[in-house]
Amino acid sequence: MVSRVIPVDLFDLVIFGGTGDLARRKILPGLFRRFCAGQMPDQARVIGAARSEMDSDGYREMVREAIGEFGGGHTFEPAQLEAFLGQLEYVAIDALGEQGWKELQALMAGTERVEAYYFSVAPSLFGEIAERLQKWGMADDQARIVVEKPFGRDLETARALNKTLATYFNEDQIYRIDHYLGKETVQNLMAVRFGNMLFEPLWNSQYVDHIQITVAETVGVGGRGEYYDKSGAMRDMVQNHLMQLLCLIAMEPPARFSPDAVRDEKLKVIRALEPVLPYHVVRGQYQAEPCNEAKNPGFRTAVGNPRSRTESFIALRTEISNWRWAGTPFYLRTGKRMQARSSEITVVFKDTPHSIFAEDAGRHRNVLSIRLQPNEGITLGVTIKEPGPGGMRLIDVPLDMSYAEAINPDDVEHVDAYERLIMDVIRGNQTLFMRGDEVEAAWAWTDPIIKGWEARNDVPKPYDHGSTGPTDSTELLRREGREWRQVTQ
Ligand code: NAP
Repeated sequence: MVSRVIPVDLFDLVIFGGTGDLARRKILPGLFRRFCAGQMPDQARVIGAARSEMDSDGYREMVREAIGEFGGGHTFEPAQLEAFLGQLEYVAIDALGEQGWKELQALMAGTERVEAYYFSVAPSLFGEIAERLQKWGMADDQARIVVEKPFGRDLETARALNKTLATYFNEDQIYRIDHYLGKETVQNLMAVRFGNMLFEPLWNSQYVDHIQITVAETVGVGGRGEYYDKSGAMRDMVQNHLMQLLCLIAMEPPARFSPDAVRDEKLKVIRALEPVLPYHVVRGQYQAEPCNEAKNPGFRTAVGNPRSRTESFIALRTEISNWRWAGTPFYLRTGKRMQARSSEITVVFKDTPHSIFAEDAGRHRNVLSIRLQPNEGITLGVTIKEPGPGGMRLIDVPLDMSYAEAINPDDVEHVDAYERLIMDVIRGNQTLFMRGDEVEAAWAWTDPIIKGWEARNDVPKPYDHGSTGPTDSTELLRREGREWRQVTQ
């Protein structure tokens, strides 16, 4: 494999919540993969920080197990794991008290290196940790903080959180993570859009009929029932992940691929989003799997709230009020317990203005699909003549731009979204992180939709386990003469 690893500066990464689910499943296995790829300098340190009492050796054992469980089949030499574990430390610390802060300060003192603090804890602790980092002299100009979603639950709380963090850190020190932006295909989308002459002239309401963004999951709320019942698909998925994908698809070409140039353009898209009309939104709640209720209960049972009005599915239609997109519908859809796990952005182009072929020759629209998972890749459907005798019959064939076809898979180094984004933090590159004003603008658009449901006591429509959501969601497009793309694995 050709190594394209770009070394990063020497760093210390403190993971608050270093014993938690996210740290064990994503952050630590991801760091280990970067270590194996040769990207983690020998003297770099990863410091786990949480309340649980243990020493660094105990933490290393916990991380060893986490890598075994969540390493995702990554093969490595035993010596590599030992060397990585040797770069780990642990501090028992209380974000809400004074315990452990002196020890952490001593560990971080006097080192000339990048200092990153990953807040992999409940959002209610973000402000507390930021304040204590400053109190203990760690919030200096070199420090970077990484904050996880959810970033607020509405505009007011997001503003308050931005304000709190801004008390201790400058905007260029704050990395608000949305792991969708770290996905390979999302970056490839930008390469395809802005690296080719082919697409940009067609990328507007004159040639594009509509755009669909689907993020479908087969899992239910799992162990996150209590959190999810207070959140719902709108807050958990649309306000952040789907909105970010929408921005990348719809934004104007930035002057350069630099953090503020990209984020300025994304912000303009969010600010140009039309308010969503009530009949342009469909909310759903999944039902239990028939004959398997104990294993796959319905949403209300799963969240432990028989009266829950929280949505596990949402489909909506919006438009962007600017010269490029005026009149082009954007359909967004996300849900749990759906037919297949699939994340895809689809750009459906308009019909040719006039067909020179006989009516029965068939007619197909060009469709560009950008698939985030599974089978990441980009496909463009083009119309060609069906080969063989029998006159002119038109068929639709995919021009596949996925890596599996174009590039020898052995030459491609798989990099998970989290590993890429953590390395970007160390490099000091904020391009793939949300800026504070973007997050607030996204909430400003989302809030009235949620408030409207609350005012109307809106009850989500039930939908079958393993389906494509409530039938009203199909209607949302059908009444405009369109169809959702099939959700396929
Ligand atoms: P989690 O499993 O509940 O872990 C929470 C961590 O915080 C634990 O390490 C816990 O350790 C520590 N902690 C709790 N109270 C503390 C305190 N007072 N002082 C210091 N440490 C404290 O949560 P998680 O699933 O990892 O999620 C962490 C964050 O990531 C949350 O904001 C979540 O919304 C976000 N997130 C998670 C996922 C995911 O897949 N898990 C995905 C996206 C975003 P002790 O109990 O030992 O203190």
